[in-house]
Amino acid sequence: MGNIEIARTLESYAALLDLAGAGYYTVRAYRRAAELVRETRAPVAELVRTGRVRELRGIGPGIERRLQELVTTGKLEELEELEREVEPALVALARFVGLSSQRLVTVGKELGIRTADELREAAAAGRLQEVKGIGPSTEAKILAGLTREQHTARRGLLLNRARALAEAIAAEVDGIVAGEVRRWRDVVYELAIVTSTPPDLESSRLLVAVVEPGVAITVEGIPVTITVAEPGAFGTALLRATGSSAYVASLGDLPAAATEEEVYARLGLPYVPPELREAPLERDPPPLVEVADIRGDLHAHTTWSDGKASVAEMAAAAIERGYEYLAICDHTPNVRVVPGLDADALRRQAEEIAEVNARVAPFRVLRGTECDIRRDGELDLPDDILDELDWVQLSLHAGQREDEVRLTRKVCEAMRHPAVRCLSHPKGRIINHRPPNALNLEAVIQVALETGVAIETNGLPDRLDLRDEEVRLCVEAGVPIVCSTDAHSVRGLGNMQMCIATARRGWATAADVLNTRPLDEILRT
Ligand SMILES: [Zn+2]
Ligand SMILES: [Zn+2]
Repeated sequence: MGNIEIARTLESYAALLDLAGAGYYTVRAYRRAAELVRETRAPVAELVRTGRVRELRGIGPGIERRLQELVTTGKLEELEELEREVEPALVALARFVGLSSQRLVTVGKELGIRTADELREAAAAGRLQEVKGIGPSTEAKILAGLTREQHTARRGLLLNRARALAEAIAAEVDGIVAGEVRRWRDVVYELAIVTSTPPDLESSRLLVAVVEPGVAITVEGIPVTITVAEPGAFGTALLRATGSSAYVASLGDLPAAATEEEVYARLGLPYVPPELREAPLERDPPPLVEVADIRGDLHAHTTWSDGKASVAEMAAAAIERGYEYLAICDHTPNVRVVPGLDADALRRQAEEIAEVNARVAPFRVLRGTECDIRRDGELDLPDDILDELDWVQLSLHAGQREDEVRLTRKVCEAMRHPAVRCLSHPKGRIINHRPPNALNLEAVIQVALETGVAIETNGLPDRLDLRDEEVRLCVEAGVPIVCSTDAHSVRGLGNMQMCIATARRGWATAADVLNTRPLDEILRT
């Protein structure tokens, strides 16, 4: 059994565990194991057979047992059991109305309900209360969930997942992605597709229940609105399905046209990129930064800390993207949950970086660090090593819950260290998991203006930190933004697109983004 097949099985298992209501960490452990197996070069089946699979970081005893079963029997008993038990349509409806899937599966079984229409009728007739454990308030909640006018999910999807899902659905119905995904919102609560051929929603693999004509839901409970447009009014429909309702309303009556460009032209307005169609515009947008403007990535990890690729592999991938430079910013010891580099380790890493640089010139691998700000406010590396490095960025990993005054004082103080060039993921949020910290961004912007420290918009899909509005604060204040992926693998460098989209949503032009500049300007302090 090959790594790809093992990874796929682990992914299906994770998806079904998620549907069956398993905990966040369990599901995540299987998703990460799948990713690990997919990316490692070692033959995983062989490692399992020889009892060495736990040498792969992130494979614990539980996952090892599943892998043993999979490698010896060719299947996972529990996966097949879950496949028989889990009813995607009911799980989707449960998530959509905000109920535990277990409860709705019980309702479905007892009353023979399988579709949204049946559920709505039963709720309207008061029949759901026949099921033990369903009271009038739960029934009312289900009915309200199924009859509300605005279709939004209870829990949003990360942008990368939402994009993949929307594109797959668009391919199924021969349409184009619109809505929040086309605007590159950081969290996506609803999907929208525009097509010119009426789709057969019942035969879709990805849309598991139809809640009303033209609106279906995915197994995650995400509503998908599908608009069918005449070719002559396709642009109008696309524009309408892309902007927020406030933005679309601000345009007034829309003329029918085949393309969006034509609609804007007839309105006598300049074309507005989808990223800016979140709210009515106060002025014409400037030319926004593009992925093609980026000359390098200033935040990447390697196997020296928790990355999956070596310095040489990351450099090769950056060269392939057409970059001129890549900053290796592995963690420092204070992080603890993953290996961190002290001054000695950074000097050993420097030798490896020098060897790579000798081979890849004029491309340049920069010696960097993602230096922790410790709880006491001190930087996690001594001054002499900080002075040696090409690119020092600061991160707060522990102590995110501190109050505004202390947190802001600590970060601002750390930014004043002369070696510091950038502040990473300043708000520390993990989307759907941890709220932003109390850091006062206005104070940070003031210090950034005084010190010349740039502020990162981090491209990890669950961070996107700074977020759009915060980028705009920096842009308006004249503080340079750094668009970095925080890549932990070769593939991670691909998150630049989401990073740029976030900057664009913050009205950033190429001039506002530091890593659109050539290497000598990055090195110059
Ligand atoms: Zn970090
Ligand atoms: Zn990082």
